[in-house]
Amino acid sequence: MQKKNSVKRIFLILGDQLSESHPFLEMKLSSESDLLLMIESLPRADWLPYHPQKLMYVFACMRRFAIEMKKKKLPTLFEYVEFSPHTFTEVVNSFGAAEVHVVEPSEPRALDWLKADLKSKCVVHPNVFFLADDSMLPAKPPYLMETFYRAMRTKHGILMEKGKPLGGQWNFDEDNRRPPLSAWDKQPPADFLEKDWCDKVDLDIYAQVETRLREHLPSDRFGAFQRPNLPTHLKSARVFLREFITKRLDQFGPYEDAMVAGSVGLFHSGLSPLMNLQVLSPQEILQAAEAAPAEVPLASREGFIRQILGWREFLRLIYRRHRADYQTANFFGFGEKLPPLYWGHPTRMNCLSSVVKHVEQHAYSHHITRLMVLGNFALLAHVNPHEVNHWFWAVYLDAYEWVVTPNVLGMSQFADGGVFATKPYVSGANYINKMSLFCKSCAFDPKKTLESDGCPFNALYWDFIATTKQNQAHRPSFARRMGMMWSVWEKKSEDEKLAIRKKAAELRTRASAGEL
Ligand SMILES: Cc1cc2nc3c(=O)[nH]c(=O)nc-3n(C[C@H](O)[C@H](O)[C@H](O)COP(=O)(O)OP(=O)(O)OC[C@H]3O[C@@H](n4cnc5c(N)ncnc54)[C@H](O)[C@@H]3O)c2cc1C
Repeated sequence: MQKKNSVKRIFLILGDQLSESHPFLEMKLSSESDLLLMIESLPRADWLPYHPQKLMYVFACMRRFAIEMKKKKLPTLFEYVEFSPHTFTEVVNSFGAAEVHVVEPSEPRALDWLKADLKSKCVVHPNVFFLADDSMLPAKPPYLMETFYRAMRTKHGILMEKGKPLGGQWNFDEDNRRPPLSAWDKQPPADFLEKDWCDKVDLDIYAQVETRLREHLPSDRFGAFQRPNLPTHLKSARVFLREFITKRLDQFGPYEDAMVAGSVGLFHSGLSPLMNLQVLSPQEILQAAEAAPAEVPLASREGFIRQILGWREFLRLIYRRHRADYQTANFFGFGEKLPPLYWGHPTRMNCLSSVVKHVEQHAYSHHITRLMVLGNFALLAHVNPHEVNHWFWAVYLDAYEWVVTPNVLGMSQFADGGVFATKPYVSGANYINKMSLFCKSCAFDPKKTLESDGCPFNALYWDFIATTKQNQAHRPSFARRMGMMWSVWEKKSEDEKLAIRKKAAELRTRASAGEL
């Protein structure tokens, strides 16, 4: 690394700050002593066993951002460091600048690292990439997403008419629960992966990045070693967004919870990787959804807007407030190892094997598969929630600390004891059978529990219900939401209860041993 003595101030643009309106691009900078800097750091890339597509995607989007930025008139000197074997701060320090400016990273860890290494040299500018600020959360829990969401709709005037929600309702969730059509088994609907979104410039970038990563990563790394076919820059991202709004948003609402093996994204947007890197702003996506063609039902527009204006912003604030608690949260005290099926080890459970295949092939699966298949199983199998979190964080294209951790530890594993969720998201095979086509071609029967071909979800589910009932510490928070399932459990005979609990324990052992 060369020392550039003339550089007095560094303006660092992080890999998840690829916004065309990044504050540093609009600042008045000195063309002699200010340096805009972007760094690909291998120690950072080695922090978790990341899916190769995730690393390829971040580096490709960064490189493309740099290319597009250079086409415009840059306010100052610019340097892009490729595949550095050094940490961010080692690279930054090599320039010998007196100040290092950074927009507050969305990942709080990144800010900790920068501040610890750079100390007083580090100048932090406000993060401008989100719509809500800390004042939008009440002073203490319980936090209600629906209250937050209504306040956000009102504040930003989205889907509002004369101060009231458009259509006279805030929430159309009841209209949005349709199961998949059985015809989709043979002819699944085309999803956002049907097209290749890469142009010649992207292909050249990917060719270089892939070669370097193949040299760097171990050969047994989980995840298909191929480029993601998503947009990498603003122009193509806008076309991608338009295509979602005109082709899939109308079905997004009704089939939001549906799951099929043959359509990875179904009617979901696939926009999270672009939004989380700030290639596309949430504002632009919300505006496009609000202004969708008239034939797109309000229930679909509202359902989609709620995810971005509601859940995404809400969970970010929860994590900012409770980050310290999340580091050790483990409400149930579960400690099993993550079963090898999550790393692609074969399993006869078709739902798990299909969804893990989606992730292995595309570093993506949609929300309900994350929550009701992968997360549900991990919780019922008593897996250590932090192992679950690290898995999601490593293998999904859109996973970053601020969003993955509250989703996994809070929403999915209830490790936070209910900071914002009123009960754990768990179900037996019944829900999966109703909302997916997985069970039709599975070795296990969703209607059976104790038989040898009974779906493992069933015994594990009832065992979990029994655990929450038995353990007095869990009672206060669950009595209201889980009382009904407790009384169903209580009505079972003592023999059946014993047999279920025994089978659940065996299933957990078999899951850990990779024998399910
Ligand atoms: C266990 C688990 C782990 C998750 N990990 C992540 C993660 O690492 N990164 C991530 O961005 N989302 C995560 N989510 C939330 C959600 O599943 C994804 O945002 C969504 O599946 C992304 O795909 P999409 O863009 O096609 O979403 P769509 O279904 O098209 O939804 C539109 C947008 O809404 C936002 N959104 C929807 N639900 C959530 C939510 N619960 N939290 C935050 N944003 C939301 C996303 O930005 C998404 O792009 C997780 C959910 C669960 C249950």
